[in-house]
Amino acid sequence: MDYQNVIDRIHGQLGDLWKQGRVADYIPVLAKIDPRQFGMAVATLDGCEYRCGDAQVCFSIQSISKVFTLAMVVQRLGDDIWKSVGREPSGNPFNSLVQLEYEQGMPRNPFINAGAMVVTDRLISLYPHPKDAIIEFVRGICGNDDIYYDKEIARSEWLNADRNMALAYFMKSFGNIVNDVDTLLDVYCHQCAISMSSVDLARAFLFLSNRGVNPFDGTRILTVSQAKRLGALMLTCGFYDESGDFAFRVGLPGKSGVGGGIAAYIPGSLAVAVWSPGLDRHGNSLAGMAALEQFTTDIGNSIF
Ligand code: GLU
Repeated sequence: MDYQNVIDRIHGQLGDLWKQGRVADYIPVLAKIDPRQFGMAVATLDGCEYRCGDAQVCFSIQSISKVFTLAMVVQRLGDDIWKSVGREPSGNPFNSLVQLEYEQGMPRNPFINAGAMVVTDRLISLYPHPKDAIIEFVRGICGNDDIYYDKEIARSEWLNADRNMALAYFMKSFGNIVNDVDTLLDVYCHQCAISMSSVDLARAFLFLSNRGVNPFDGTRILTVSQAKRLGALMLTCGFYDESGDFAFRVGLPGKSGVGGGIAAYIPGSLAVAVWSPGLDRHGNSLAGMAALEQFTTDIGNSIF
């Protein structure tokens, strides 16, 4: 398959879609990003890489980090994490509070903010230096030791974390957060502010495509069953309350972030990442969704 030709053609066919979305503006630093950017990268399990447009430009991965922290916690805690976080789509916005009250502080899934914060809370209990551990993990799965936090974004995130704080305190009142909320928010804001390119992200999702084994050094990160479960959660919950539509249009497990990035993969074959900061009304990259839909259509492959 000539993936270079496929992504170049998609880039050319996007028209002005990449100018139409709106950048996330609830975090002031994100609001300053020029929406008219688009990058796409493919990494295959047989070691090939393809890229186009702004594929090497770094951006904050935001909620895509939730996949990495979940992998780190599942690796250590196994199924115990599912005593504190559910596995059902929420059908609500990523930062919604309402469902938590009905469900007594047990978040619907690990990819809404509440669920991701429970996961990060467990990570803090498991790792003495959680921020270092997260960066080390991400560097390891994409083979790039330059990856780091964007400190300006982490700070802006922290200064505008009122709603996330509210979610965390609310869950703490039900006993579902055990660490200090300020510490939790510091780690959570940093994980959202990890700065990576589409090329890095495509590489970072290859261990999922490889059924839990890091293709760069051969180490097993997740069991085959754990990798399957992460994929199932991404398919059903990875795109806020547009997860059904992503599955319908693209047909791949993946995860988006409000920085405009999306990473997805085909088990046993490849990982693909796109970045375009203009978002649709659900908080997913407008051009990114369209590009991935075209990608699976053009290559005639998906998980279905
Ligand atoms: N930093 C964001 C927040 O928690 C992440 C949002 C996202 O990408 O979904 O508000």
